[in-house]
Amino acid sequence: METVLTTHFADERYRGIDGYRGKGGYGALRKCVSMPREAIVEEVKKANLRGRGGAGFPAGVKWGFLPKDLSRPRVLVVNADEGEPGTFKDRLILSHGPHLLLEGIAIACYALSIHRAYIYIRGEYAREARILEEAMEEARAAGFLGKDVLGTGFDLEVTLHRGAGAYICGEETSTINSLEGKRGWPRLKPPFPAVVGAFGLPTLVNNVETLCNVPWILENGGERFAALGCEKNGGTRLVGVSGPVVRPGIYELPANANLKNVIFDVAGGLRDGKALKAVIPGGSSTPVLRADEIDVTFDIETMAKAGTMAGTCGVIVIPEGTCMVRALSVLMNFYAHESCGQCTPCREGTGWLKLVVGRIEAGQGRPGDVELVLDVCDNMAGKTICALADAAVMPAQSFIGKFRGEFDRHIAEGKCPFGNRF
Ligand code: SF4
Repeated sequence: METVLTTHFADERYRGIDGYRGKGGYGALRKCVSMPREAIVEEVKKANLRGRGGAGFPAGVKWGFLPKDLSRPRVLVVNADEGEPGTFKDRLILSHGPHLLLEGIAIACYALSIHRAYIYIRGEYAREARILEEAMEEARAAGFLGKDVLGTGFDLEVTLHRGAGAYICGEETSTINSLEGKRGWPRLKPPFPAVVGAFGLPTLVNNVETLCNVPWILENGGERFAALGCEKNGGTRLVGVSGPVVRPGIYELPANANLKNVIFDVAGGLRDGKALKAVIPGGSSTPVLRADEIDVTFDIETMAKAGTMAGTCGVIVIPEGTCMVRALSVLMNFYAHESCGQCTPCREGTGWLKLVVGRIEAGQGRPGDVELVLDVCDNMAGKTICALADAAVMPAQSFIGKFRGEFDRHIAEGKCPFGNRF
């Protein structure tokens, strides 16, 4: 299978500028600076590239949202705040192919006449931040960033900004607030970042993986990229598999790879002869699937039909013997901790979900507690500024919907039937 992103990741030298250029790196940027800017955007549209940060919005369309008026400077914000549990694909790119990201940034900025880009990287990625800083220095020295990029008269300043480790700062308006030095709180939309974003300027926010596909698209053509994927999602996806499988890790696969094959063929199946109980397919906020529901492909529409989402393609494998109430309790703790607290349904709701699911798991659940959880969910979903409330609701509803018996047993027996103790 043809790969787009990880082809040279096994070669340590690819991290440095000489190794990257040795594999043809920055060739796409050279090609782009002699192309009309609209033609670059057109190629990305043809590629059918959808955002890889979780929401899956078509990248070319998003690029087109920036106002045509060039009298106000525009900004690119690169979202490297990879915080969704089960997701670690951008870390792989940042560690092994930092110049791939810088080239993608340079092409996007050139195409959209953006002279200022910020890479917002999560605080925990200290090593990746150092790697990026070195790569940025190399790229500046070689004339790919900074003043007069490749002698074209085009200036591009790129700044690396380290976050302080809050999940919510991965939400695009919260990323912008944090970048501006404000509290990392999501903003009400509209206005959308494309109109009023970072520092009040029109802003494009793109995920790391999304931008890293851009050099290949410009080098090889949008149509060829589109053909690597499926009808509504071109190219490949970096699928991360975690949990007790034989070969956990990141795999670059077609955008319509089959989830069951990923777990049993690519990742080698479960370790120690364990049976599969459930799978979270696209990062912790995506609805869980039972073992008999995983014969689905990663394309966005198929996942939607299966009642879940491809999200970030962060596959979490759950083996037989796992207490699903405990698993949900862990997730509810996470979302309650990460709620920024601005909206009452989210601030209070995530707290209640943590409390009630936690007491069910601890054997102190009361009759009606499961209904209470579902009622709290109903009062949260779609009623808040950002999607964090929905991110907590989707696992809660799906865990209960698919494993209701385990919740009822915890309450009826006053203990965890899997022997978990508190
Ligand atoms: Fe903050 Fe939650 Fe409201 Fe998002 S939904 S803005 S995280 S309180």
